[in-house]
Amino acid sequence: MFHPAASALASILSTPTRLTRAGRFEAVLNHIAEEVEGLADRGRPADYIPLLAEVDPRHFGMAVAEADGTVYGVGDWKRPFSTQSITKVFTLALALSLEGEHLWRGVGREPSGNPFNSLVQLEHENGVPRNPFINAGALVVTDRLQALTADAAGRALELLRTESGNPTIDFVPEVAACEATHGGRNAALAHFMASCGNLTTPVPDLLAAYFWQCSIAASCKDLALAAGFLARHGTRTDGSALLTKSQAKQINAMMLTCGTYDAAGEFAYRVGLPGKSGVGGGIIAIVPGVCTLCVWSPGLDRRGNSVAGVLALDRFTTLTGLSVF
Ligand code: GLU
Repeated sequence: MFHPAASALASILSTPTRLTRAGRFEAVLNHIAEEVEGLADRGRPADYIPLLAEVDPRHFGMAVAEADGTVYGVGDWKRPFSTQSITKVFTLALALSLEGEHLWRGVGREPSGNPFNSLVQLEHENGVPRNPFINAGALVVTDRLQALTADAAGRALELLRTESGNPTIDFVPEVAACEATHGGRNAALAHFMASCGNLTTPVPDLLAAYFWQCSIAASCKDLALAAGFLARHGTRTDGSALLTKSQAKQINAMMLTCGTYDAAGEFAYRVGLPGKSGVGGGIIAIVPGVCTLCVWSPGLDRRGNSVAGVLALDRFTTLTGLSVF
């Protein structure tokens, strides 16, 4: 995409130089924010619950956290938004760290190519969901975490708070209640999997844990920092291991192949990074060994990914050359 400021940015980035990495990241983020400003169609916020539908689609924020915890941002990067399916990454990390390979008895690792809340595929495949990032798969992961800890949503919240260093990140009870009111499809997925013997937690308790998990509000800054363990090969901010190096690789691989609904191929093509989106308009993306990104803009495309968010990540990897390829 042509933008008037593009040549100025190109000259900043190509100066062989004393320009620090911080200076480069800041220049790139500011440039991307200007490009997004000119975007004519930013999509529409999710409308399955009123609390998401009424968010102003003009919000845009983006943060980059280096693996050492240094963080930069632009726009609404400190403003909390509804994390929704982004929390699936954190429950998966916790469940995998506690349960190891046994987790894969109840959930697969293949892209689904179907909408995130599809019932059809689940019936065809006898109640074993394709991957942990579609709703059915996330319900299995939350089920295992609930069985192991008795508080799956609380553990996810605690992980986000600890890794971001922000103890004010919290559940939003109104969002959790709305999810429950409009949760017929998630209930159908859960009851079907229970009938196949693929759940241990009573369905009402599991749904409650899942809806609380979806309701967590956090900012781009919080999420970029909190997902840092995926850029540090599984290591938490305190230096301890949440995941093995191999498990961190596995989660990154699944984010690349399954993390952005049934547009994961397009996302990999444009952005070239492991990513996970949520219907609140947030997306996290990982540059292993280097940094973690989070972008938020509430307008979604028809597959449920943030329009400005995907554009911003596409521009980031194009301008910096930082991708896994
Ligand atoms: N709460 C949403 C649901 O389970 C999450 C959807 C999403 O962000 O993908 O339907």
